[in-house]
Amino acid sequence: MTADELQPFLTGLAQRVMREDDWGTQADYIPDLAGIDPVQFAISVVLPDGQVLSAGASEQPFSIQSISKIFTLSIALGRIGDSIWARVGREPSGDAFNSIVLLENEQGHPRNPFINAGAIVTTDALLAGRAPREALSEILQFIRMAAGDESIHINRHVARSEKATGHRNMALAHYLRSFDNLTHEPDLTLGTYFHQCSIEMSTRQLALAGRYLAALPCSPRMISDAKVRRLNALMLTCGQYDGSGEFAFRVGLPSKSGVGGGLLIVAPGKASIAIWSPGLNEHGNSQAGTRAAAHLSDFTGWSVFRP
Ligand code: GLU
Repeated sequence: MTADELQPFLTGLAQRVMREDDWGTQADYIPDLAGIDPVQFAISVVLPDGQVLSAGASEQPFSIQSISKIFTLSIALGRIGDSIWARVGREPSGDAFNSIVLLENEQGHPRNPFINAGAIVTTDALLAGRAPREALSEILQFIRMAAGDESIHINRHVARSEKATGHRNMALAHYLRSFDNLTHEPDLTLGTYFHQCSIEMSTRQLALAGRYLAALPCSPRMISDAKVRRLNALMLTCGQYDGSGEFAFRVGLPSKSGVGGGLLIVAPGKASIAIWSPGLNEHGNSQAGTRAAAHLSDFTGWSVFRP
């Protein structure tokens, strides 16, 4: 797929999404995200040679929310390797991102690192030997290096806003602690978790940060190839919560969604893709963004199920 073929398609795709006028609803449980206009769209695609193609509001920063879980897991895998799996599983949950149900049945061992309980455990692991400020600076440094962009920052206002209403996540953290699967005070781990979720990036920055997951030659080296392969497997099976099966069916590429409406999508060896549209579907994944991803994979033929 050359840039000359892809750019007109992306421009047309952005126009088509605007015309389709089917946006879903923005996340309203985080007060700071409730006021965002759902009628917005952006897409960026990085090709193996490093070219970035974009359409729509691709320079507009948005809250990456759960997409941050990819980066914290990458750091945890790099730092403590396979010992993370003693604390969190690798199976799709079939439940909502913030579900507490499975945690009781499975004795405080979260199903996977992308549901909130699993991500909170991963962040807890990153706090070993580090103060929250240091762990957050490590997360930010990792993302800045992956994207090659020092301007990426945390929106502390969004973090405070989520903390003020984050009762479900507090319940999850205390519940994990009761099973001895949280080594720090819930407040400490959650403070770090809320701040990592509040990192803001544009689709351009996010697509650049995802280059290492697609193993593009233009990417800085972040983690080993074996770890990238495993992360992609988890993104395919668990990256969209209980919408993961549908996304694999429609798009066929590893991805991670966030309730800010972002999507990071990996076409291994071919492209790193970021899409943003803040209106969400019933699973908490971007509604217009998911549709756009399906159009893109139809057009390019990119799919891990197609040789
Ligand atoms: N910060 C959000 C939460 O924990 C992340 C959820 C998401 O993006 O899916 O509720």
